[in-house]
Amino acid sequence: MRVPVIAGNWKMNKTPEEAAALCRALLTHLDVLDDREVVLCPPFTALATVSEAIRGTKVVLGAQNVFYEDSGAYTGEISPLMLQALGVKYVIIGHSERRQYFGETDEMVNRKVKAALQHDLKPIICVGETLAQREAGVTETLVKSQVDKAFHDIAADEAKQVVVAYEPIWAIGTGKTATSREANRVIGMIRGTLGEIYGDSVAQAIRIQYGGSVKPGNMAELMQEPEIDGALVGGASLDAESFARIVRYDD
Ligand code: PEP
Repeated sequence: MRVPVIAGNWKMNKTPEEAAALCRALLTHLDVLDDREVVLCPPFTALATVSEAIRGTKVVLGAQNVFYEDSGAYTGEISPLMLQALGVKYVIIGHSERRQYFGETDEMVNRKVKAALQHDLKPIICVGETLAQREAGVTETLVKSQVDKAFHDIAADEAKQVVVAYEPIWAIGTGKTATSREANRVIGMIRGTLGEIYGDSVAQAIRIQYGGSVKPGNMAELMQEPEIDGALVGGASLDAESFARIVRYDD
């Protein structure tokens, strides 16, 4: 049985003070059930504050990015060691905004995944197609290639620690959601790709989320699909009540 994981990606929002307030509001609404995991991914500057705010709860800390070296002359970067020291357990890698605005390639994603795993951080690897790619009929080829490259040289027991987030780029922050059937279909294809690499039992153990305009109104339907193991939530994770309802699969 795969335990669904619901992660809130706060992106470049919330000062430490605002993050503490959002955590307080969230914790009054949030009832983290044993059958699902909840991860909060604030910006780097609020990790320490959120770490403190969620201490003693079942909520888990995540980061939005990581560099692939442990230390050194890499101005502006944050290493897996630094995240680990703050109590971070998950890290988003290869979000489409990082690929689009910061030039992250599949090769960089793979290096980051390896570095994260070496320091016991669970990567949440984002994959997904643009609208143009979808309309050109290359969704499957593109997503398969992103998955193949992200998992390059990752051993099977490490692969089981990884979460994949299927995020069609045209659905991120746009209010457009892939239908639950379509999300389930692509996620099934991703699981098939993982099966080709690792065999069926490992592929069945890897959690694959959907992301892209998830809100309380569509979460329950998404979670009825057999292949979908939770959600990566952007905009709606900034509102305590909305995020709590998403976590409950509550319309
Ligand atoms: C995201 O940034 O990963 C995301 C899915 O954003 P939103 O929920 O706002 O579409």
